[in-house]
Amino acid sequence: MSQADPSEISRLADATCNVLLDGLTDAFLLCDQDTLICYANLAAKKMFPGRDLIGRSPQDLFPDSRFIELIDACRSMGSSVRRRLVLPQQLSPLGSLENRGENCWLIDLATLTKKDHPEARLRIMLRDLTAEHQSEQVRKDFVANASHELRTPLAIIQGYLENLLEDGGIRDVAQAQRFLQIMEKHTDRVVRIIDDMLMISRLESGEAASLRSEPFEILSCVHDVIERLEHMIHTQEASVDTSSIDPQLLIKGDRFYWTQILFNLVENALKQNPKVGLKVAITAEVKEGQIMISVTDNGIGIPTAHLPFIFKRFYRVDINHTNSAIKGTGLGLSIVKRAVEAHGGQICVSSMPLQETKFTITLPS
Ligand code: ADP
Repeated sequence: MSQADPSEISRLADATCNVLLDGLTDAFLLCDQDTLICYANLAAKKMFPGRDLIGRSPQDLFPDSRFIELIDACRSMGSSVRRRLVLPQQLSPLGSLENRGENCWLIDLATLTKKDHPEARLRIMLRDLTAEHQSEQVRKDFVANASHELRTPLAIIQGYLENLLEDGGIRDVAQAQRFLQIMEKHTDRVVRIIDDMLMISRLESGEAASLRSEPFEILSCVHDVIERLEHMIHTQEASVDTSSIDPQLLIKGDRFYWTQILFNLVENALKQNPKVGLKVAITAEVKEGQIMISVTDNGIGIPTAHLPFIFKRFYRVDINHTNSAIKGTGLGLSIVKRAVEAHGGQICVSSMPLQETKFTITLPS
Protein backbone atom coordinates (compact mmCIF):
# COMPACT_ATOMS: atom_id res chain seq x y z
CA MET A 1 0.00 0.00 0.00
CA SER A 2 1.48 3.32 -0.98
CA GLN A 3 2.27 5.85 1.77
CA ALA A 4 0.24 9.10 1.58
CA ASP A 5 2.35 12.19 0.97
CA PRO A 6 1.89 14.56 4.01
CA SER A 7 2.28 17.68 1.84
CA GLU A 8 -0.36 16.32 -0.55
CA ILE A 9 -2.72 15.65 2.39
CA SER A 10 -2.16 19.16 3.68
CA ARG A 11 -2.75 20.67 0.20
CA LEU A 12 -6.01 18.68 -0.11
CA ALA A 13 -7.09 19.74 3.37
CA ASP A 14 -6.47 23.43 2.50
CA ALA A 15 -8.40 23.12 -0.76
CA THR A 16 -11.32 21.39 1.03
CA CYS A 17 -11.31 24.09 3.68
CA ASN A 18 -11.45 26.83 1.04
CA VAL A 19 -14.34 25.12 -0.75
CA LEU A 20 -16.24 24.87 2.53
CA LEU A 21 -15.56 28.47 3.58
CA ASP A 22 -16.43 29.81 0.13
CA GLY A 23 -19.72 27.93 0.34
CA LEU A 24 -20.77 29.93 3.42
CA THR A 25 -23.25 32.78 2.97
CA ASP A 26 -21.65 34.59 5.93
CA ALA A 27 -18.50 36.64 5.49
CA PHE A 28 -15.57 34.93 7.18
CA LEU A 29 -12.29 36.74 7.87
CA LEU A 30 -9.12 35.79 9.69
CA CYS A 31 -6.73 38.36 11.16
CA ASP A 32 -3.07 37.92 12.10
CA GLN A 33 -1.36 38.96 15.34
CA ASP A 34 -1.32 42.62 14.21
CA THR A 35 -5.08 42.37 13.58
CA LEU A 36 -4.63 42.65 9.85
CA ILE A 37 -6.77 40.49 7.57
CA CYS A 38 -4.91 37.43 6.29
CA TYR A 39 -7.84 35.44 4.89
CA ALA A 40 -11.25 36.37 3.41
CA ASN A 41 -13.81 33.92 2.02
CA LEU A 42 -15.87 34.49 -1.12
CA ALA A 43 -18.86 35.97 0.79
CA ALA A 44 -16.51 38.55 2.40
CA LYS A 45 -15.10 39.50 -1.00
CA LYS A 46 -18.64 39.95 -2.34
CA MET A 47 -19.62 41.98 0.71
CA PHE A 48 -16.76 44.43 0.18
CA PRO A 49 -16.54 44.50 -3.61
CA GLY A 50 -13.62 46.16 -5.35
CA ARG A 51 -11.47 46.23 -2.20
CA ASP A 52 -8.39 44.22 -1.57
CA LEU A 53 -9.04 42.86 1.89
CA ILE A 54 -5.73 41.14 2.63
CA GLY A 55 -3.41 43.22 4.80
CA ARG A 56 -6.14 45.69 5.79
CA SER A 57 -7.47 46.38 9.21
CA PRO A 58 -11.08 45.20 9.84
CA GLN A 59 -11.82 48.68 11.21
CA ASP A 60 -11.47 50.00 7.64
CA LEU A 61 -14.35 47.79 6.62
CA PHE A 62 -16.70 48.72 9.44
CA PRO A 63 -15.76 52.25 10.47
CA ASP A 64 -17.99 52.20 13.54
CA SER A 65 -16.65 52.59 17.07
CA ARG A 66 -18.93 49.81 18.39
CA PHE A 67 -17.30 47.31 16.03
CA ILE A 68 -13.82 48.40 17.10
CA GLU A 69 -14.83 48.12 20.78
CA LEU A 70 -16.07 44.58 20.14
CA ILE A 71 -12.73 43.57 18.63
CA ASP A 72 -10.87 45.14 21.56
CA ALA A 73 -13.15 43.36 24.05
CA CYS A 74 -12.68 40.02 22.28
CA ARG A 75 -8.89 40.37 22.18
CA SER A 76 -8.51 41.53 25.78
CA MET A 77 -10.82 38.83 27.21
CA GLY A 78 -9.47 36.15 24.89
CA SER A 79 -12.96 34.75 24.45
CA SER A 80 -15.71 34.85 21.85
CA VAL A 81 -18.08 37.78 21.41
CA ARG A 82 -21.40 37.74 19.55
CA ARG A 83 -23.44 40.91 19.09
CA ARG A 84 -26.10 42.42 16.77
CA LEU A 85 -25.14 45.78 15.37
CA VAL A 86 -27.50 48.16 13.57
CA LEU A 87 -25.58 50.51 11.29
CA PRO A 88 -26.73 53.46 9.24
CA GLN A 89 -26.50 52.85 5.50
CA GLN A 90 -23.37 54.98 4.94
CA LEU A 91 -21.37 52.95 7.49
CA SER A 92 -22.40 49.62 6.03
CA PRO A 93 -20.03 47.69 3.77
CA LEU A 94 -21.75 48.68 0.54
CA GLY A 95 -21.97 52.32 1.67
CA SER A 96 -23.60 54.54 -0.93
CA LEU A 97 -24.50 51.48 -3.01
CA GLU A 98 -26.84 50.43 -0.23
CA ASN A 99 -30.48 51.43 -0.40
CA ARG A 100 -31.91 49.52 2.49
CA GLY A 101 -31.73 52.32 5.07
CA GLU A 102 -30.51 50.77 8.30
CA ASN A 103 -28.50 47.58 8.11
CA CYS A 104 -28.31 44.97 10.81
CA TRP A 105 -25.30 42.71 11.29
CA LEU A 106 -24.54 39.78 13.49
CA ILE A 107 -20.89 40.07 14.46
CA ASP A 108 -19.27 36.93 15.78
CA LEU A 109 -15.66 37.20 16.95
CA ALA A 110 -13.30 34.70 18.53
CA THR A 111 -9.60 34.69 19.37
CA LEU A 112 -7.45 31.86 18.02
CA THR A 113 -4.29 30.28 19.39
CA LYS A 114 -1.26 28.87 17.59
CA LYS A 115 -2.84 25.43 18.09
CA ASP A 116 -5.93 26.55 16.11
CA HIS A 117 -4.04 28.21 13.26
CA PRO A 118 -0.37 28.91 12.54
CA GLU A 119 -0.95 32.55 11.55
CA ALA A 120 -4.47 33.74 12.43
CA ARG A 121 -5.22 35.14 15.91
CA LEU A 122 -8.74 36.47 15.39
CA ARG A 123 -11.76 35.05 13.56
CA ILE A 124 -14.50 37.38 12.35
CA MET A 125 -17.83 36.19 11.07
CA LEU A 126 -20.33 38.72 9.68
CA ARG A 127 -23.96 37.81 8.95
CA ASP A 128 -26.29 40.22 7.17
CA LEU A 129 -29.52 40.29 9.23
CA THR A 130 -31.00 43.34 7.48
CA ALA A 131 -34.00 41.50 5.98
CA GLU A 132 -34.97 39.97 9.35
CA HIS A 133 -34.39 43.30 11.10
CA GLN A 134 -36.62 45.12 8.62
CA SER A 135 -39.49 42.65 8.86
CA GLU A 136 -39.23 42.80 12.66
CA GLN A 137 -39.45 46.60 12.40
CA VAL A 138 -42.49 46.37 10.10
CA ARG A 139 -44.20 44.07 12.61
CA LYS A 140 -43.44 46.43 15.50
CA ASP A 141 -44.76 49.41 13.51
CA PHE A 142 -47.87 47.44 12.58
CA VAL A 143 -48.68 46.65 16.20
CA ALA A 144 -48.04 50.27 17.25
CA ASN A 145 -50.14 51.69 14.40
CA ALA A 146 -52.94 49.18 14.86
CA SER A 147 -53.15 49.89 18.59
CA HIS A 148 -53.20 53.62 17.92
CA GLU A 149 -55.90 53.33 15.23
CA LEU A 150 -58.10 51.15 17.45
CA ARG A 151 -57.57 53.25 20.53
CA THR A 152 -59.05 56.42 19.06
CA PRO A 153 -62.56 55.10 18.25
CA LEU A 154 -62.59 53.01 21.43
CA ALA A 155 -61.77 56.09 23.54
CA ILE A 156 -64.66 57.95 21.86
CA ILE A 157 -67.07 55.06 22.50
CA GLN A 158 -65.89 54.89 26.11
CA GLY A 159 -66.45 58.65 26.55
CA TYR A 160 -70.03 58.48 25.28
CA LEU A 161 -70.74 55.37 27.36
CA GLU A 162 -69.61 57.23 30.47
CA ASN A 163 -71.93 60.11 29.57
CA LEU A 164 -74.85 57.72 29.16
CA LEU A 165 -74.14 55.98 32.46
CA GLU A 166 -73.89 59.24 34.35
CA ASP A 167 -76.89 60.28 36.44
CA GLY A 168 -79.79 60.95 34.11
CA GLY A 169 -77.75 60.47 30.96
CA ILE A 170 -80.06 57.84 29.58
CA ARG A 171 -83.27 59.66 30.53
CA ASP A 172 -82.71 62.35 27.95
CA VAL A 173 -83.86 60.09 25.15
CA ALA A 174 -82.97 62.44 22.26
CA GLN A 175 -79.45 62.91 23.57
CA ALA A 176 -79.04 59.21 24.33
CA GLN A 177 -80.12 58.41 20.77
CA ARG A 178 -77.50 60.81 19.39
CA PHE A 179 -74.78 59.32 21.60
CA LEU A 180 -75.71 55.80 20.51
CA GLN A 181 -75.52 56.78 16.85
CA ILE A 182 -72.03 58.21 17.33
CA MET A 183 -71.01 55.07 19.19
CA GLU A 184 -72.39 52.93 16.38
CA LYS A 185 -70.37 54.86 13.79
CA HIS A 186 -67.14 54.38 15.75
CA THR A 187 -67.94 50.72 16.43
CA ASP A 188 -68.30 50.25 12.67
CA ARG A 189 -64.86 51.76 12.29
CA VAL A 190 -63.32 49.36 14.83
CA VAL A 191 -64.94 46.44 12.97
CA ARG A 192 -63.63 47.70 9.61
CA ILE A 193 -60.07 48.14 10.94
CA ILE A 194 -60.12 44.63 12.39
CA ASP A 195 -61.59 43.13 9.19
CA ASP A 196 -58.91 44.87 7.11
CA MET A 197 -56.14 43.75 9.46
CA LEU A 198 -57.39 40.16 9.30
CA MET A 199 -57.41 40.28 5.52
CA ILE A 200 -53.82 41.60 5.40
CA SER A 201 -52.73 38.99 7.89
CA ARG A 202 -54.40 36.22 5.82
CA LEU A 203 -52.64 37.45 2.68
CA GLU A 204 -49.31 37.64 4.48
CA SER A 205 -49.56 34.40 6.38
CA GLY A 206 -49.28 32.16 3.36
CA GLU A 207 -52.97 32.02 2.52
CA ALA A 208 -51.91 33.69 -0.71
CA ALA A 209 -50.39 30.36 -1.66
CA SER A 210 -53.78 28.70 -1.31
CA LEU A 211 -55.74 31.30 -3.31
CA ARG A 212 -58.35 29.86 -5.63
CA SER A 213 -57.31 29.85 -9.21
CA GLU A 214 -60.48 29.66 -11.27
CA PRO A 215 -61.30 31.60 -14.42
CA PHE A 216 -64.12 34.18 -14.15
CA GLU A 217 -65.34 37.11 -16.18
CA ILE A 218 -63.86 40.32 -14.89
CA LEU A 219 -66.98 42.20 -16.04
CA SER A 220 -69.24 40.19 -13.74
CA CYS A 221 -66.90 40.99 -10.85
CA VAL A 222 -67.09 44.71 -11.73
CA HIS A 223 -70.90 44.50 -11.77
CA ASP A 224 -70.89 43.02 -8.25
CA VAL A 225 -68.71 45.90 -7.03
CA ILE A 226 -70.95 48.53 -8.62
CA GLU A 227 -74.00 46.88 -7.06
CA ARG A 228 -72.39 47.02 -3.61
CA LEU A 229 -71.53 50.69 -4.09
CA GLU A 230 -74.86 51.57 -5.75
CA HIS A 231 -76.04 53.74 -2.87
CA MET A 232 -72.84 55.84 -2.81
CA ILE A 233 -72.79 56.18 -6.60
CA HIS A 234 -76.41 57.29 -6.61
CA THR A 235 -76.09 59.80 -3.74
CA GLN A 236 -72.96 61.36 -5.23
CA GLU A 237 -74.47 61.38 -8.72
CA ALA A 238 -71.25 59.75 -9.90
CA SER A 239 -70.88 57.86 -13.17
CA VAL A 240 -68.97 54.61 -13.54
CA ASP A 241 -67.99 53.80 -17.13
CA THR A 242 -67.35 50.12 -17.80
CA SER A 243 -67.78 50.24 -21.58
CA SER A 244 -64.11 49.51 -22.29
CA ILE A 245 -64.14 46.20 -20.44
CA ASP A 246 -63.96 43.25 -22.79
CA PRO A 247 -67.03 41.19 -21.75
CA GLN A 248 -65.26 37.95 -22.72
CA LEU A 249 -62.12 38.71 -20.72
CA LEU A 250 -61.43 36.03 -18.15
CA ILE A 251 -59.12 36.34 -15.15
CA LYS A 252 -57.73 33.28 -13.46
CA GLY A 253 -57.65 33.76 -9.74
CA ASP A 254 -59.61 34.16 -6.54
CA ARG A 255 -62.82 36.02 -7.28
CA PHE A 256 -63.30 36.99 -3.62
CA TYR A 257 -60.00 38.92 -3.62
CA TRP A 258 -60.59 40.46 -7.06
CA THR A 259 -63.94 41.79 -5.87
CA GLN A 260 -62.16 43.24 -2.84
CA ILE A 261 -59.41 44.80 -5.02
CA LEU A 262 -61.89 46.51 -7.35
CA PHE A 263 -64.20 47.44 -4.48
CA ASN A 264 -61.39 49.20 -2.59
CA LEU A 265 -60.24 51.11 -5.68
CA VAL A 266 -63.71 52.27 -6.75
CA GLU A 267 -64.79 52.99 -3.17
CA ASN A 268 -61.64 55.09 -2.66
CA ALA A 269 -62.44 57.18 -5.74
CA LEU A 270 -65.97 57.82 -4.42
CA LYS A 271 -64.90 58.29 -0.80
CA GLN A 272 -62.22 60.83 -1.63
CA ASN A 273 -64.57 62.81 -3.86
CA PRO A 274 -67.91 63.32 -2.19
CA LYS A 275 -68.84 66.27 -4.44
CA VAL A 276 -71.45 65.39 -7.06
CA GLY A 277 -70.55 64.49 -10.62
CA LEU A 278 -67.40 62.36 -10.21
CA LYS A 279 -66.45 60.33 -13.27
CA VAL A 280 -64.97 56.89 -12.67
CA ALA A 281 -63.85 54.59 -15.49
CA ILE A 282 -62.91 50.92 -15.18
CA THR A 283 -61.11 49.25 -18.07
CA ALA A 284 -59.83 45.72 -18.62
CA GLU A 285 -58.05 44.50 -21.73
CA VAL A 286 -55.22 42.30 -22.95
CA LYS A 287 -52.24 44.35 -24.10
CA GLU A 288 -48.94 42.95 -25.29
CA GLY A 289 -49.73 39.58 -23.79
CA GLN A 290 -50.65 41.00 -20.38
CA ILE A 291 -53.98 41.74 -18.74
CA MET A 292 -54.27 45.43 -17.88
CA ILE A 293 -56.99 46.60 -15.50
CA SER A 294 -57.36 50.24 -14.56
CA VAL A 295 -59.56 52.36 -12.31
CA THR A 296 -59.50 56.07 -13.12
CA ASP A 297 -61.26 59.06 -11.60
CA ASN A 298 -61.19 62.77 -12.23
CA GLY A 299 -61.30 63.80 -8.59
CA ILE A 300 -59.09 65.55 -6.02
CA GLY A 301 -56.13 63.25 -6.73
CA ILE A 302 -53.06 62.39 -4.70
CA PRO A 303 -50.21 64.91 -4.34
CA THR A 304 -47.00 63.64 -5.95
CA ALA A 305 -45.10 63.70 -2.64
CA HIS A 306 -47.54 61.13 -1.18
CA LEU A 307 -47.59 58.74 -4.13
CA PRO A 308 -44.62 56.57 -3.06
CA PHE A 309 -46.25 55.84 0.30
CA ILE A 310 -49.93 55.27 -0.35
CA PHE A 311 -49.63 51.47 -0.53
CA LYS A 312 -48.07 51.37 2.93
CA ARG A 313 -50.18 50.13 5.80
CA PHE A 314 -52.12 52.85 7.66
CA TYR A 315 -50.87 55.55 5.30
CA ARG A 316 -53.46 58.24 4.61
CA VAL A 317 -53.26 61.51 2.80
CA ASP A 318 -54.79 63.66 5.49
CA ILE A 319 -55.49 66.72 3.37
CA ASN A 320 -58.04 64.64 1.47
CA HIS A 321 -59.96 63.86 4.62
CA THR A 322 -60.87 67.30 5.88
CA ASN A 323 -64.48 66.87 4.76
CA SER A 324 -65.09 63.29 5.72
CA ALA A 325 -66.84 62.61 9.00
CA ILE A 326 -64.74 59.52 9.69
CA LYS A 327 -61.29 58.66 8.40
CA GLY A 328 -60.52 55.61 6.30
CA THR A 329 -58.41 52.86 7.80
CA GLY A 330 -55.40 53.49 5.57
CA LEU A 331 -55.34 49.73 4.91
CA GLY A 332 -57.41 49.57 1.71
CA LEU A 333 -54.59 50.06 -0.79
CA SER A 334 -52.22 47.89 1.15
CA ILE A 335 -54.76 45.04 0.86
CA VAL A 336 -55.11 45.80 -2.86
CA LYS A 337 -51.33 45.63 -3.42
CA ARG A 338 -50.88 42.40 -1.48
CA ALA A 339 -53.85 40.71 -3.18
CA VAL A 340 -52.64 41.77 -6.66
CA GLU A 341 -49.12 40.52 -5.89
CA ALA A 342 -50.53 37.25 -4.56
CA HIS A 343 -51.94 36.75 -8.08
CA GLY A 344 -48.53 37.42 -9.64
CA GLY A 345 -49.48 40.96 -10.71
CA GLN A 346 -48.32 44.49 -10.05
CA ILE A 347 -50.09 47.74 -9.33
CA CYS A 348 -49.00 51.32 -9.94
CA VAL A 349 -50.58 54.72 -9.62
CA SER A 350 -50.34 58.08 -11.32
CA SER A 351 -52.21 61.22 -10.39
CA MET A 352 -52.89 64.62 -11.86
CA PRO A 353 -55.22 66.26 -9.35
CA LEU A 354 -58.66 67.15 -10.76
CA GLN A 355 -57.74 65.56 -14.09
CA GLU A 356 -56.86 61.92 -13.74
CA THR A 357 -55.97 59.60 -10.90
CA LYS A 358 -55.27 56.18 -12.31
CA PHE A 359 -54.52 52.85 -10.66
CA THR A 360 -53.20 50.31 -13.18
CA ILE A 361 -52.92 46.60 -12.51
CA THR A 362 -50.77 44.43 -14.76
CA LEU A 363 -51.25 40.67 -14.71
CA PRO A 364 -49.63 37.88 -16.66
CA SER A 365 -52.33 36.51 -18.99
P1 ADP B 1 -58.15 54.72 3.28
O1 ADP B 1 -58.78 53.76 4.20
O2 ADP B 1 -57.70 55.97 3.95
O3 ADP B 1 -58.95 54.94 2.03
P2 ADP B 1 -56.27 53.51 1.50
O4 ADP B 1 -55.08 52.65 1.79
O5 ADP B 1 -57.34 52.88 0.67
O6 ADP B 1 -56.79 54.00 2.88
O7 ADP B 1 -55.77 54.80 0.76
C1 ADP B 1 -54.66 55.52 1.25
C2 ADP B 1 -54.78 56.97 0.91
O8 ADP B 1 -54.65 57.16 -0.50
C3 ADP B 1 -56.14 57.55 1.26
O9 ADP B 1 -56.07 58.10 2.56
C4 ADP B 1 -56.36 58.63 0.24
O10 ADP B 1 -55.92 59.85 0.75
C5 ADP B 1 -55.46 58.23 -0.93
N1 ADP B 1 -56.26 57.79 -2.09
C6 ADP B 1 -56.51 56.52 -2.47
N2 ADP B 1 -57.24 56.47 -3.60
C7 ADP B 1 -57.48 57.75 -3.93
C8 ADP B 1 -58.18 58.39 -5.01
N3 ADP B 1 -58.79 57.68 -5.97
N4 ADP B 1 -58.21 59.74 -5.02
C9 ADP B 1 -57.57 60.47 -4.08
N5 ADP B 1 -56.90 59.94 -3.05
C10 ADP B 1 -56.85 58.60 -2.97
